[in-house]
Amino acid sequence: MKSGSCPKCKATEVFRNPSGTRMSFKSGRSYMESSFDTYVCLGCGYMEMFVNLKGEDPNRVEDMRKTWKKIAPKG
Ligand SMILES: [Zn+2]
Repeated sequence: MKSGSCPKCKATEVFRNPSGTRMSFKSGRSYMESSFDTYVCLGCGYMEMFVNLKGEDPNRVEDMRKTWKKIAPKG
């Protein structure tokens, strides 16, 4: 996605929000507000968001590790 082509539909209609995307969502028992680096494919609507881990409070990152469900890698 960051390279300019969509991993889903292979279109090269990928745009990045230059102002970042601020969003709040429920994480564990509390609400978390964060700024995301956001990419959208205007070919199919697929969107990718990256949280800025380095700019994030380390406690929050630890909290996500504890309360979010880890996806087991396949194979
Ligand atoms: Zn696409």
